[in-house]
Amino acid sequence: MRKFLAILVCKLSRFAGKLLGKGSSMPGKLALKVCPNILGKISLPKYIIAVTGSNGKTSTVEMIAHVMEDAGLNIAYNKEGSNQIEGVTTFILNNCTMGGKFKKDYILIESDERYAKYTFKHFSPTHYVIVNLYRDQLTRNGHPLWVYDAIKESIPESTKLILNADDPLISTFGEGRKNVVWYGMDNLSTDTNESTGVYDDGKYCPVCGGKLSYDYRHFNHIGSFSCEKCGFKKHNTNYTVTAADLEEGVVEIDGSTEIGLAFTGIYNVYNILAAYAACCTVGIDKNQISTSLNNFVLKNGRIVRFKLGDRTGVLLASKHENSISYEQSLTYAATRKTPGDVVVIVDRISRKYYTGDTSWLWDINFDILNSDSVNKIYLMGLYCSDLELRFSYTNIPKEKIKVFSDIHAGIEELRNGGKEEIYVVTCFSDKEKFLSETTMLQ
Ligand SMILES: [Zn+2]
Repeated sequence: MRKFLAILVCKLSRFAGKLLGKGSSMPGKLALKVCPNILGKISLPKYIIAVTGSNGKTSTVEMIAHVMEDAGLNIAYNKEGSNQIEGVTTFILNNCTMGGKFKKDYILIESDERYAKYTFKHFSPTHYVIVNLYRDQLTRNGHPLWVYDAIKESIPESTKLILNADDPLISTFGEGRKNVVWYGMDNLSTDTNESTGVYDDGKYCPVCGGKLSYDYRHFNHIGSFSCEKCGFKKHNTNYTVTAADLEEGVVEIDGSTEIGLAFTGIYNVYNILAAYAACCTVGIDKNQISTSLNNFVLKNGRIVRFKLGDRTGVLLASKHENSISYEQSLTYAATRKTPGDVVVIVDRISRKYYTGDTSWLWDINFDILNSDSVNKIYLMGLYCSDLELRFSYTNIPKEKIKVFSDIHAGIEELRNGGKEEIYVVTCFSDKEKFLSETTMLQ
């Protein structure tokens, strides 16, 4: 009876919420009040694929969903992105019959890395993709090692893990387990030997605390690592990017499958590889997967092309409070063949909660922008002075930097001030403030 009531409450409040334009976590919250273990009472399908980690969950889920739909599989996924237990409950109950049976054959869930342990207390994913662990939203999430403990608690014994072998911390989840699928990248021409970041989270072995050494790093602490003390090292991979031409936008997986990239950032390659590994693992044909992923354009608004006056540009939605996300966008802007202007906007740090903490700016290596490919750098928004102070500690010539607390005024100057491409690096909380004054091209 409680089950029936919880489903009813969820469906009704979801319907009402939609009419009122409300978010998707409230119906699940109400359902959990009526029946706290409702998720354990639902009859779920044979395949439950979950994705968690710091960066790229939404993109990876979108790609897996796209491939599975293309393959004609009957799937449902939480595309609204409410990934904590309330949102996941709303999503699951809304896809159920009143009797509590999930209507599709496959569930695909993006799960918040800290809350996964609450969601997966009630049911176990059959496949669990863990993409990476980075410093992310420290004021809300805590340190990666703290998030690590939260994810570890969320992993059921019976679940098949699909793990990024290039991330040392993520790799420890596979220690001592048999049911693990590993993915990673071989040595690429863009790799480095040393960490290029301001800090190095790959210095010490997460197993024994010994010194980690790297044959190569793709970026930050992601690469081919090994511990001199205990022998913990990058695991052999089942699915591997064997070559990548990021200029041309082509990656090669397992020496044969080629996939064209709609966006040529290395993090996009990881998302593609994670999706590829997950889809192969559930039995989809690799040619089918590569056809579906070929030049797949993400719909989640992470990369938006726009026109501003006579100029064109790309907005690279990056995550405030996440240095790796920022550095990947900065690297993209700084390595283009033709020079452009770069805009960094920090106006509201999070759209989900209030914080005025800007210490994360010191974790970002802004010296990446000290490149001939970068003309002017526009620092905009409420926290432009924090940005300006941070940039004063870089080697970037001062005359390249322009500061605007008023975003509108900055945009007007850009509109009239040049012809080059514009690269905007900012967060979801601030991106509309820029895009609303432009014409979007896609
Ligand atoms: Zn070790």
